[in-house]
Amino acid sequence: MLPSNSRLQRLSQAALSRSQFLQLAAGALLPFVGLPPSAAADKNSELAQKGGALGTKDAAASGRMGAILVSQFGPVKIHSYLSPLDGFQVNTQMIEGPTAVVIFDGQLLLPYANEVASYVQTLGKPVERIILSHAHTDHWSGLQVLTESFPDVRVFALDGIADQLRARGQARLDSFRPIYGDRIATKVTVPTEIIAEGVQRIDGITYDFKRFVDAESDLQLAALLPEQKVLMAFDLVFSPNEHAFTVVDHFDHWMIVLDQLDVLQGYDTITIGHDTPVHRSAIDSTITYIKCAKEIHAASADAKTYSESLKAAFPDRQLASMVDFSAKLLYAAHR
Ligand SMILES: [Zn+2]
Repeated sequence: MLPSNSRLQRLSQAALSRSQFLQLAAGALLPFVGLPPSAAADKNSELAQKGGALGTKDAAASGRMGAILVSQFGPVKIHSYLSPLDGFQVNTQMIEGPTAVVIFDGQLLLPYANEVASYVQTLGKPVERIILSHAHTDHWSGLQVLTESFPDVRVFALDGIADQLRARGQARLDSFRPIYGDRIATKVTVPTEIIAEGVQRIDGITYDFKRFVDAESDLQLAALLPEQKVLMAFDLVFSPNEHAFTVVDHFDHWMIVLDQLDVLQGYDTITIGHDTPVHRSAIDSTITYIKCAKEIHAASADAKTYSESLKAAFPDRQLASMVDFSAKLLYAAHR
């Protein structure tokens, strides 16, 4: 892309409010635009103050569409790639240890997965494995790019995820195709390896893998990094600034899962599936949100009523257009 085009594109993005942008993106009529990199970088700068030795990399400097936050914990770095809004602000986490990189999740849109692949290559260490946290399309579509970029690397997931992708993955891609065209994967990348629950050491880093059911998705991996005191919660926890995705009627059990996370002591930094890392207080704010969503769901006969009531209950949360998306899936499941 020519620099002048790039600058123009950024100017046009800046002229759109975040909600306007999302409405347009969700309406699928807009050609690709991304979150202004400076906005994401500013947000990341705030978060960079919260951990140990944290730093940021400015997306604007590299021409990158997504944003990257780097958190350092001694010899371990967590690189979080955050997609622009049209990619659902989904994260790919890259855990860089002494000799290798472990990648968690693969993005919704292929251009963003490409940015992840390019970024990993700059780290100069081999990819040890790719781990998929759950079977929602925004986390695995871009694995097509990552597995092409790193053809010898195995893809791991909890037992059951591969079956879900074989059963429903292609239909999910087909449903996104009218919206995203060739930016969505053309094939389903099915994990070939099962990630075991419990403690494992990978490249000298201790991971405690946990399996949760019936929360934001039917089956969700989480990982504790006990030495770094980081909880990788993926879509179990949402930012207090954004609407959570309530696509299935698992409200009660999701709150039970969040209570289980809440008792974990000392895990003050939580990396999440969407948006930048949060403080542990986000567990409580997610419980508050899910409790309210459950009540609204019980009182709402249709998706439109549910969506409007939920947006009215949390007027300050971003990603309001995603509430419509969630409501559509939530109410479709009843039929
Ligand atoms: Zn997600």
